Amino acid sequence: MSAQQPFQFPTANHNLFIVGNEPKFFAPTAPDKPWTSGSFGCVRNDGQRLHEGLDILHLQTDKRGEPTDPVMAAADGMVVYFNMKPSLSNYGNYIVVRHVVEGMEIYSLYAHLSAVRPGLKIGESVKAGEAIATMGRTSNAEVIAKDRAHVHFELNVLVNDKFAAWFKTASPGERNDHGEWNGQNLNGLDPREILLAEHNPKGGFSLLNFIRNQTELCRVFVRATNFPYLKRYPMLVLKNTIAEKQGVAGYEIALNLNGVAFVLMPRAESEIKGSAKFQLLSVNESEEKANPCRHLVVQRNGQWQLANEGLREVELLTY
Ligand SMILES: [Zn+2]
Repeated sequence: MSAQQPFQFPTANHNLFIVGNEPKFFAPTAPDKPWTSGSFGCVRNDGQRLHEGLDILHLQTDKRGEPTDPVMAAADGMVVYFNMKPSLSNYGNYIVVRHVVEGMEIYSLYAHLSAVRPGLKIGESVKAGEAIATMGRTSNAEVIAKDRAHVHFELNVLVNDKFAAWFKTASPGERNDHGEWNGQNLNGLDPREILLAEHNPKGGFSLLNFIRNQTELCRVFVRATNFPYLKRYPMLVLKNTIAEKQGVAGYEIALNLNGVAFVLMPRAESEIKGSAKFQLLSVNESEEKANPCRHLVVQRNGQWQLANEGLREVELLTY
């Protein structure tokens, strides 16, 4: 696997690379909606709802009009989860594959499948381009019409492997049938940006640089010093000689529009104001205005605060 091109398309549909062919690549949410509604980001409900992956259109169908496109692993990796009870998820049948790219654990997710490849096992290694499933239309939340049959494809960081325990305390009474492989624990990056950047003939793509250079939506301080993300993504943790000398009392963390923690700065007690467990340090108002759909922060009486969704994100991150 080349370090420059970590990810491939998960199906034979490569229309993303042909300027003007986006409508042949993305499945919009309805025939009268633009192709962008099938792309990543604040593209749903007038920008108020996130779509965390790409909806990639089918290319082939059987006699009944059902999609038959093979779905392929986007990179070398290991199958870590699949759900084959479509009634248990809005993803329907889905597979999660773990990859290590530039030392980082990245998780690809393929949803709405009709079937997983017979015999495929959790823990099995797969190669980039290897067929792992067949496209379908499964979901417990939406009816996917035949003409917009697609694979929903995500590229994620994993927030916390103690997700299941956290979810019990944070969402009592709610079901979690998928352990740590619940979509709420997988924070998506924009696969379109990644695939296009990799495709740049100038080369030089680095996923680590891509993540480090996310646009900051807000910056938080967490009074926590030992949480799994620090060990999982040490390459995102900066050096601070004051904290090294005096001891780390917490972390200043930059979050992007989707709550992905992409820069973590250790802080010493002498550098921290106040004693709150979580503090909102700043908001990038232009980014919040452009991409508000995760509703991480909210303005009350002219003051920015962490909204419930923002609090949930930092609680899960530091649990
Ligand atoms: Zn989707």
